[in-house]
Amino acid sequence: MKWEDNVRKVVPYIAGEQPKEKNIIKLNTNECPYPPAPGVKKLAEELDCDAMRLYPDSNSTPLAEALAEYYHVKPGQVFVGVGSDDVLAMAFMTFFNSDKPILFPDVTYSFYDVWADLYRIPYQTCALDENWKLRPEDYEQPNGGIIFPNPNAPTGVLESIGTVERIIAANRDVVVIVDEAYIDFGGVSALPLIEKYDNLLVVQTFSKSRAMAGMRIGYCIGNEKLIAYLNDVKFSFNSYTMNRPSQLLGVEAVRDDAYFKEITSKIVATRERVKKELKELGFSFTDSKTNFLFATHERIPAQEIFQALRAAGIYVRYWNKPRISNHLRITIGTEEQMDSLLAFLKQYIAEH
Ligand code: PMP
Repeated sequence: MKWEDNVRKVVPYIAGEQPKEKNIIKLNTNECPYPPAPGVKKLAEELDCDAMRLYPDSNSTPLAEALAEYYHVKPGQVFVGVGSDDVLAMAFMTFFNSDKPILFPDVTYSFYDVWADLYRIPYQTCALDENWKLRPEDYEQPNGGIIFPNPNAPTGVLESIGTVERIIAANRDVVVIVDEAYIDFGGVSALPLIEKYDNLLVVQTFSKSRAMAGMRIGYCIGNEKLIAYLNDVKFSFNSYTMNRPSQLLGVEAVRDDAYFKEITSKIVATRERVKKELKELGFSFTDSKTNFLFATHERIPAQEIFQALRAAGIYVRYWNKPRISNHLRITIGTEEQMDSLLAFLKQYIAEH
């Protein structure tokens, strides 16, 4: 068919499964197992029809202001989007327009190469070392921009702020995006560096540490000039990206810092306990600083464990991809969910 010659053909990103069955244990997409802050639920119940009838604030002003206050930056340094995926997609389009390749790790968030292909951005991947660490020297070659998550996904590995700064400092002529989707589970954010480096964009999300994946709230913080360029692209695309309820409920989440700290420290405590127990079952894993573990078993192939867990109604994530095909990514759930996982694995491993 002739018209097909003019179609933008892409191989889409494949998100983790959202199973329809009830009573499953869902540890496959790094959602938070706890509810959002109580104030979020209360306001959700009180929302009136105007929250639906009227167009939203096209700058998400109240939410951008709340985030600016929380992170001690100016509102003009904050850009809000529909999940960090939206923020990242806009940032790729805005900042990665060179003929030189952008750089990112070989094992990383599998959306980066999809956006690069979608926007026809040349890219080159840099191999992580045998401990899944970045090799900063790989990012000291001519390039059109850099992006990496810190901590990385799906490895869970945190890079020191020294390594992050070394990469930014060596690349002052391009934009460096640090994707901090998992920074709230024990990492040190690169945010203070935005004062020093006008080429740094830090991206974060409400999906994991603020328990609001379903509301689709993401944001980035950087120099005002970077944010102005992002807004130009966003307003050339769709003025009203974030809906009114998400903006209002997001503000409530930011206000309750005590709850945010409570749930993130609960997840960290569960993670550390589960590490010990999985080790006893013959698993090894990176020292994850995220809300998931990246684990491999000494004897049983990851794919087999993945399938057995799935058949038992416990969903984790598995990729049949180079370097990671013998690993499972297991989201940290509640204590009870992790007990069920561990009980199943204990029995399964004893029998295999
Ligand atoms: N970055 C990384 C590294 C992620 O793992 C995810 C979650 N899939 C995202 C960004 C996007 O998350 P969200 O769009 O829900 O903010």
